[in-house]
Amino acid sequence: MRAPRCRRALEGVSRRGITILRTVEAMRVYQAQAHSWRDVGFVPTMGALHAGHVSLVTEALRQHNTVVASIFVNPTQFGAGEDLDKYPRTLDADIQMLAAAGVSCVFAPDSREMYGEETPLCHVEPRAFGDTCEGLARPDFFRGVATVVTKLFNIVQPTTAFFGQKDVAQCVLVQRLVQDLNMAVRIHVCETMRDADGLAKSSRNAYLNDGERRVAGILYKALSAAKLLCEQQPSQLGASISRLDVIAAAERTLRQEPLVGNIEYVSVASPRHMRELDTVSREEGAVISAAVRLGSVRLIDNVLVGRAAIDILTN
Ligand code: AMP
Repeated sequence: MRAPRCRRALEGVSRRGITILRTVEAMRVYQAQAHSWRDVGFVPTMGALHAGHVSLVTEALRQHNTVVASIFVNPTQFGAGEDLDKYPRTLDADIQMLAAAGVSCVFAPDSREMYGEETPLCHVEPRAFGDTCEGLARPDFFRGVATVVTKLFNIVQPTTAFFGQKDVAQCVLVQRLVQDLNMAVRIHVCETMRDADGLAKSSRNAYLNDGERRVAGILYKALSAAKLLCEQQPSQLGASISRLDVIAAAERTLRQEPLVGNIEYVSVASPRHMRELDTVSREEGAVISAAVRLGSVRLIDNVLVGRAAIDILTN
């Protein structure tokens, strides 16, 4: 019984020097065979890759000899009305990009492989993250992320996993996940990669029309204005600035642009828990984040103030 199972597990397609694995079993065999195991960097993605993703791979390769990337559009982090079926799927181009960047292995399972046929009995529920701005906007999102990241870590068993500051609440969540559940994985958060006008690189940017793209840098400009306000506060110990003033600074800039249809939220949150703060102080710092609609496209971005940069980006 065992031999055929193992043979099937080894069926990784190798293209351009990169191994592509579609099953959990094959990934486990690869992991067991990797020479330099305990020296593996891991970059989890949902595909539709761009330079932001590649920057994570580049950092992973700076730290590790072997880099595994995953491509999996995780259904459990999509809510009703968020169109899972429309999420861009560009597997061939993604594999080419990852091969050119130096990735050794791509783990690209389908949903059935990851979740099986039956509704799973267990998932990972992050306490209180549902009350964060992004959690209120997307009720199932953080449970889906915590669950899939746990599954991927168990399957790939990396030394270090690399995430982008672009999805800052996800970074805070994953840092707490490995701490709270004693997972033997180091988390490295990489700074957000941006276009020249400040727009954070994202697979969703492709859906902006020319007019929307021309003004999309306004989101980063607004967050930078809010950050500047915080940093201009007097430096004596205990000085703080009210969240309402910080939010107003960001919204003032966003309202200058008529194409910004809806400001979903501007959040001023603690770097440890993503809980909303009443005031921002230099000692604690803050994560200032926002979600806006530009036409039909939902854009998110964030900036880190004071200690938040140390808490989130120091690995
Ligand atoms: P996704 O495929 O959107 O789930 O993203 C996979 C990883 O890439 C996540 O850790 C993201 O935070 C990260 N990422 C996405 N966009 C950027 C960017 N512009 N700069 C740096 N990292 C990014």
